[in-house]
Amino acid sequence: MSRFDTVVIVDWSGGNDRGPHPKADAIWAAVNRGGAADAPVYLRNRQVAEDWLAGLFAAELAAGRRVFAGFDFPFAYPKGFCEALTGGQDPLVLWDWFEARIEDSAKANNRFDIAGEVNRLFKGCGPFWGNGLDRDIAGLPRRKDGYHNPFADRRACETQAKGAFTCWQMSGAGSVGSQVFMGLPVLARLRRRFAGQLAVWPFEPLTPQIAVVEVWPSLTVGPAPEGWIKDQWQVSEMARQIGGLMPEQVDAMLDVDAPEEGGIFGLGHEAVLKAEAAPLRNDCFALPHGVHWTPVDEALDRLRQQLTPVTGMETVPLAAAAGRIAAQGVFAPRANPPLPNTAVDGYGFAGARGAGMHRLPLVAGRAAAGDAPGAVPAGYAIRVLTGAALPEGVDTVILQEDVKVGADYIAFNGAVKEGANTRRAGEDVAAGDPVLRAGRVITTADLALLAATGVAGVMVRKRLRVGVLSTGDELVEVGEAAGTGQIYDANRPMLLAMVAQFGHLPVDLGRAPDDRAALRAMLDGAVGNVDAIITSGGASAGDEDHVSALLGEAGAMTIWRIAVKPGRPLALGLWEGVPVFGLPGNPVAAMVCTLVFARPALAQLAGAAWAVPQAFDVPAAFAKRKKAGRREYLRARIVEGRAEVFGSEGSGRISGLSWAEGLVELDEGARDIGYGDAVRYIPFGSFGLG
Ligand code: AMP
Ligand code: MG
Repeated sequence: MSRFDTVVIVDWSGGNDRGPHPKADAIWAAVNRGGAADAPVYLRNRQVAEDWLAGLFAAELAAGRRVFAGFDFPFAYPKGFCEALTGGQDPLVLWDWFEARIEDSAKANNRFDIAGEVNRLFKGCGPFWGNGLDRDIAGLPRRKDGYHNPFADRRACETQAKGAFTCWQMSGAGSVGSQVFMGLPVLARLRRRFAGQLAVWPFEPLTPQIAVVEVWPSLTVGPAPEGWIKDQWQVSEMARQIGGLMPEQVDAMLDVDAPEEGGIFGLGHEAVLKAEAAPLRNDCFALPHGVHWTPVDEALDRLRQQLTPVTGMETVPLAAAAGRIAAQGVFAPRANPPLPNTAVDGYGFAGARGAGMHRLPLVAGRAAAGDAPGAVPAGYAIRVLTGAALPEGVDTVILQEDVKVGADYIAFNGAVKEGANTRRAGEDVAAGDPVLRAGRVITTADLALLAATGVAGVMVRKRLRVGVLSTGDELVEVGEAAGTGQIYDANRPMLLAMVAQFGHLPVDLGRAPDDRAALRAMLDGAVGNVDAIITSGGASAGDEDHVSALLGEAGAMTIWRIAVKPGRPLALGLWEGVPVFGLPGNPVAAMVCTLVFARPALAQLAGAAWAVPQAFDVPAAFAKRKKAGRREYLRARIVEGRAEVFGSEGSGRISGLSWAEGLVELDEGARDIGYGDAVRYIPFGSFGLG
């Protein structure tokens, strides 16, 4: 998420101090930075929370990070209340009104008295109800019976948010009313403290670095898994959900016009926030209007902006995690190394030694890797083996090759620096450091890092199931006899294998004849079994181009005319909500379009972070005059450090695909390439192909 760098979500509480140990119904906060989550923070009371928030804001401001600070209580009341109380419609004036009246300490506060005071202004039978104290308060009914509210029971946004509580209720389960009373004064003070650096949504333009936003975790966060306190889970999940949004999605959610009542962030966008079940929008493949040939980068930007993950999540043990996509950020539970240790075999002692000869008595025994650290008296040395935790009293190690060993002493020639040949605790990774980012395709090396820091399993995206379908009356299955005029289906084996190498689950959907009804039946049959479909052939606008015709009938299709060679129009659309990539039939175009367009799109659907394939500038071993207008991909390989290209650019030449080990990418502009000129080469490996 680049609109905000840091997301903090706070679950507020109107109650009193909850004690030193993490409990439910206290204040909980969770921070997520760029998809990486800190451990949720327990805040025992509001004073502690206010200090913590001020500290966090100051640190984020200093680091130049933009902050989304979400609080789970209403920022305003139903229409009319603010004006009745303050004489104007600005909810921020109401914040100050509360701030001036509410008295709060860890043990007691005057919220019921203030509620009664307000009610008395309205003739005493509402809008607030629910006195939680033993003593009676004039004007504040204990229950809702006989109560009269001159205002609406709910704000407009609350009528859309299923299960939201009314802000007029001051006590009892789910009494949002108390949270508002006890929350707004804190926000009002933070607003003053960070004046000019903090703005409140949706009442002020969000230009400053910190945005304070009303959220409601129950909108999108499911039940807590075992071992989690509900509030703790809700804040960390909500922070993860918002932290995982793309800037355009955040902007769409912030685009609310409710200057008096405020709103709930994400309302109407629940599916996007939940990500796992988010249906794609019907127009997810829309291209800009009026552009005849869309440049490659613009087409890719569209995919990047409009496609959202469609896969759920599961936890897998580390051993099964390589190649999977991290669904959540992970923080090191333990430092690496956990304790200071020795990097070599040698002798350990305390402190530096200057130039000249040194002689140190040896203590008995030794410290080896895995030993619990003992202690060494000052002035003594101990035998240490690589990886051993340093005993107490040891911070420096000399290599065994550099000492003379006597019966009960060592002697060596200085100097030795303090800390020599040792590794500091946490010098590699400190506990709490991010060790995995959401959206990362987990590498083999990541497994070492995760294991070293004590992570046994990771939450990953379920694998994306990708159906592959060939179309064309001319195709026969390899292994069958091919009649006159028939050709073997070359695309399907290739595309199925590419899908697998991209890390998804390939699903063979077979071959469809050039017959609309048959193709329709096959697509219908695939719905429910796949998350995305790649077809080849029949994607243009000819008589037998049934893929585009059918997707067009379904109403959610765009023909992508992309300024690229090789490539013919692609038909991108949704079939019963399943994204379909209609590739050209020509195997060369099918492969290139898969690498350039389908691969990043599938990655995005699978929940992976967007990644541009690594390209290298290499001297050309060919000459070519390229016209302006479209991007070209040439089948290429590296021979003696230079990029050779396949002799023929003919798009039916499958042999050239097999010959190639990568692609040369030539930009849209005109270019006269001579031998030795630098060209951009992308090895197939950069696309994830083996
Ligand atoms: P189409 O996009 O259906 O017009 O097909 C373009 C060209 O690609 C035609 O020459 C087709 O015969 C060929 N073609 C289509 N599908 C395949 C396939 N699965 N394997 C090999 N060639 C194909
Ligand atoms: Mg065809």
